Amino acid sequence: MIPSVKLNNGAKMPIVGLGTWRADHGKGSEAVKLAIRAGYRHIDCALVYQNEEEVGTGILESIEQGVVKREDLFIVSKLWCTFHRPSLVRTACEKTLGDLKSKYLDLYLMHFPMGVKPGEDLFPLDDQGQVIADDSNFLDTWEAMEELVDTGLVKAIGVSNFNKDQLEALLNKPGLKYKPENNQIECHPYLTQEKLINYCHSKDISVTAYSPLGSPDRPWSSSDEPYLLEDPKIKAIAQKHKKTPAQILIKFHIQRNVIVITKSATPRRITENLKLFDFELSDDDMKTMLGLNKNWRGFPVLWATKHKDFPLNGE
Ligand code: NDP
Repeated sequence: MIPSVKLNNGAKMPIVGLGTWRADHGKGSEAVKLAIRAGYRHIDCALVYQNEEEVGTGILESIEQGVVKREDLFIVSKLWCTFHRPSLVRTACEKTLGDLKSKYLDLYLMHFPMGVKPGEDLFPLDDQGQVIADDSNFLDTWEAMEELVDTGLVKAIGVSNFNKDQLEALLNKPGLKYKPENNQIECHPYLTQEKLINYCHSKDISVTAYSPLGSPDRPWSSSDEPYLLEDPKIKAIAQKHKKTPAQILIKFHIQRNVIVITKSATPRRITENLKLFDFELSDDDMKTMLGLNKNWRGFPVLWATKHKDFPLNGE
């Protein structure tokens, strides 16, 4: 049994989930099936990962084979930036639902606060390599997402990559019908996000940490960047607990009451990344890990630094 975080709508969101970014090319559905067999119940997806069909096949086959019931899964997906205009929100959600072969989502997140020019191209860029913004406003997008809850297509809505000011703008929106249930943000010992997490928790907004291992396979990584899985302090804590560095990095979030999603398409690692509940990090371990913060981002979102709603400048 994986512990869960209770959302304001009464749903229980498993504190550990499987990430699916770059889980494709024939590996995505097998990874999902294996993960569900291993005990994962929370699967994190997104339209922009362009693999929801494959992930959906893994989910459907697990249900058809009697491994799990739909109601025991917690499926998350995200509204991509090119669908921010209110008239496009339902279209995007229905595409995701069709691909995931599911009648509803447990949680639907606005992937970024930034609206981008609609169209087939998910990353329309100008000649400076900057994304072409749309004049949509994330508060209007939110209203269209609220309608998805009312129509039953999604059980809860939330956001991702929102900073404090943007969350405040949303919470203070006149006529707000549903508060965001969750903010999914990059978080790990090199980016501990203490202020933002405290703020979210103070407003009853749960937090999900993405890239808990520092996203070692991100395509833009360079050899001079820090490498979490090889950090000597993380390795020392792992040795002490007879665990792997990955298990220590994942457990770090659980002990902060932060939901964590780790991606793996490797069978051995998928099971390893769930063996987290037979040990506890000490206060000193947690202090050491928090002390590694250097506000380093694996996802600096360089393609959108000039967007009016670029979120990573603020807290
Ligand atoms: P992670 O930090 O989860 O790292 C994934 C990488 O680590 C993969 O290369 C994987 O390899 C490897 N790995 C997994 N387990 C282990 C292990 N036990 N030991 C060593 N290496 C391991 O990075 P992600 O960026 O993928 O983040 C996780 C998820 O968060 C994403 O998949 C996505 O669902 C979500 N996300 C959300 C974002 C947002 O904007 N909201 C942005 C980025 C991610 P392999 O698969 O080969 O095993």
